Amino acid sequence: MKKTIIPIVLFLMATVMTAQQIKVYLNAGHGGWGPDDRPMPTIPYPMLPETGRPDTCGFYESNTNLWKTLECGTRLSKNGNFRVRYSRKRNGPYPYRKGASNEFKYNRSLSEISAEVDTWGADMFLSIHSNATSEGALVNYPLFLYRGTDAEDYVENSKAMCQKIWPRLTEAMHADFEPMTHYNSSTNIRGDIDFYHSSWTNEKGITGYLGVLHHMAPGFLSEGFFHTYQPSRHRALNKDWCRQEGIRYYRGIADYFEVHNDSTGCIMGQLHVNQESSSSLELFAAISESLDKYMPANGVTVRLKNANGEIVGTYETDQNYNGIFVFYDLSPGRYYIELKGEGFKTRQGKIFPVTVKAKTTAYKNINMIRGTSTPFDDEIDGLTPITSPVGEGEIYDLSGRRINGQCLNSQLPRGIYIIGGKKILY
Ligand SMILES: [Zn+2]
Repeated sequence: MKKTIIPIVLFLMATVMTAQQIKVYLNAGHGGWGPDDRPMPTIPYPMLPETGRPDTCGFYESNTNLWKTLECGTRLSKNGNFRVRYSRKRNGPYPYRKGASNEFKYNRSLSEISAEVDTWGADMFLSIHSNATSEGALVNYPLFLYRGTDAEDYVENSKAMCQKIWPRLTEAMHADFEPMTHYNSSTNIRGDIDFYHSSWTNEKGITGYLGVLHHMAPGFLSEGFFHTYQPSRHRALNKDWCRQEGIRYYRGIADYFEVHNDSTGCIMGQLHVNQESSSSLELFAAISESLDKYMPANGVTVRLKNANGEIVGTYETDQNYNGIFVFYDLSPGRYYIELKGEGFKTRQGKIFPVTVKAKTTAYKNINMIRGTSTPFDDEIDGLTPITSPVGEGEIYDLSGRRINGQCLNSQLPRGIYIIGGKKILY
C-alpha cells in the first residue's frame, strides 16, 4: 500500500505547488542596438563615427535592462514559488539596420507586450528601465510608475508592490554606492497619469499613460537610476552591478509575496583611489558630495577569504571606471577582502572584514592606496614568512640595496627581503 500512496501524494503535492505558483511577467525595456535603445558614450566605448552609437558592449539601456531582468527572473525561478515570463530574453539584431524586417525582433511593441501580460494572466508585472535627463546632469534617483493617478492605482496592489520594493532597490544608493540626489528619506512612487499629465484608453477600455502598463496585472515600471549621470553609466557597464539591481528587485518581490527562502547572501564592493580626483576623466561629471569625485580603481584583483582563511572567490575589477566587484551566494558568516593591483599597496589579512547575512547584500566601499604592488603572501613559493625581520645578517631589498640597520626592529614595510642571504617574506 505504502509504495503506491507515496507517489500519489508526491504527485498531488507537485500539482498543488504548480497551481500556487505566482506568475511574474518581466519586461526588459527596449531591445536592440539601434537609436531607440538609449545608446550613450562612455570612456571605453565612445560613439563610433560610422554609426553615431557605441559598440554593442557600450552603454545601451537595452543591455543593462536585460542583465537586470534576467538575474531577477533567474532568482524568481530558483525560489520555486514563481513562474516567470519575459517579453524578451535577448538583444539585437546585430548589426542594427533601420527598416530591416527583423529591426523590432526584440524591441517589441508595447501594446503587444501589455496584451501578452493579460493573455498569460500575470499576477505581477515589472518593467525595468533607467531614467534620463540632459546628458551629464548631476541628478540621480529612482522613479516607480504604476498605472493610475497619484491618489489611486487602477490595478489594486500596484502601489503596495512599489512601496515594498522601493527600500530594496535603494539599498545601494543608501550604501553610498551611487549618489541619491532626491528622495533620500521619502519615496518617488507615482501614478503615470499624474506624472505625465496625460492618459488614453485602449480598445479594451484600459486607461493610463504608459503603453506597457495597459493591462490588468498589478505592478509598475521602474526607472532604477539616471543613465545621464555619467559615473552611474560607467557602473552600469559592469554586468554584476546590473545583476545586483536585478537581485534587489527579486528580493523585493519575494518580500512582497512573503516567500523569501534564500539561505545565502552576497558581497558587493566598490574601489576608489584614495584622495585621487576623478575630475581629469572625460564623460565623468561627478556629484561633489559623492564618492564619484574620487578615481574608480580599474584592474584590481579582489580575493575573498572565509573565516578559516580559505579563498572562496576572486574577482578582477574591469577597465570601465566603476571599481565594482561582486561575490554571490555566500553562506552567512564573516569574510575578509584582500586587494592587489598594479600601482597599489597590496592589502591582505583581516583588515577588511565583511559580515554576510542571508537574503541580503553586504556593501563595502574601499579606498586603494597608491604604492608598490607585492604578491599575496600565499602566492610566493619557497619563502619563509616571518613576523619580525630581526635576525642574523644584513637586510637587503630585492634589488640588492642594503637597508639601513635601524630598520631592523621596526618601521620595515611588509614585503620580500634578503636577510643573511635568504629570501624572507616579512
Ligand atoms: Zn528606458
